[in-house]
Amino acid sequence: MICPVCKKDMFVVEYKQIELDYCQSCRGVWFDAGELELLLEAGGIEGDKPFLGDVLKSPEAHTPEKKRKCPICTRNMREVMVGGETGVMIDACNRGDGLWFDGGEVASLVKIITAESPEKRGSESEIIGFLTEVFKAPQ
Ligand SMILES: [Zn+2]
Ligand SMILES: [Zn+2]
Repeated sequence: MICPVCKKDMFVVEYKQIELDYCQSCRGVWFDAGELELLLEAGGIEGDKPFLGDVLKSPEAHTPEKKRKCPICTRNMREVMVGGETGVMIDACNRGDGLWFDGGEVASLVKIITAESPEKRGSESEIIGFLTEVFKAPQ
């Protein structure tokens, strides 16, 4: 798969049988539909509903950034802010192919999700530890 930001080949990273596509140049990560939910579930953080479905219902954020194209269907993705004002900006394919996170954003998202549910903090450190190690996510 080709990185939507720098157009280079991405690497496939496997974690608990979930395959992610990771770009070594910009450190962005692509999740196919359902994979983010699997990652959160593997870490014991279960969402109440599919994350991608939620994102696609959220209003599109307006930013001066150039629109990125989905690495699967090559159409423009929508930019959505998750986690409120201080949240992270992610790109989602309108057809539901998947989600794109810029470098370090996955770790920020996991922090936002677990901040809402203090009992899940243990899983947070496991997933963030994994992300930090594999993706070298900034703290
Ligand atoms: Zn890239
Ligand atoms: Zn797509």
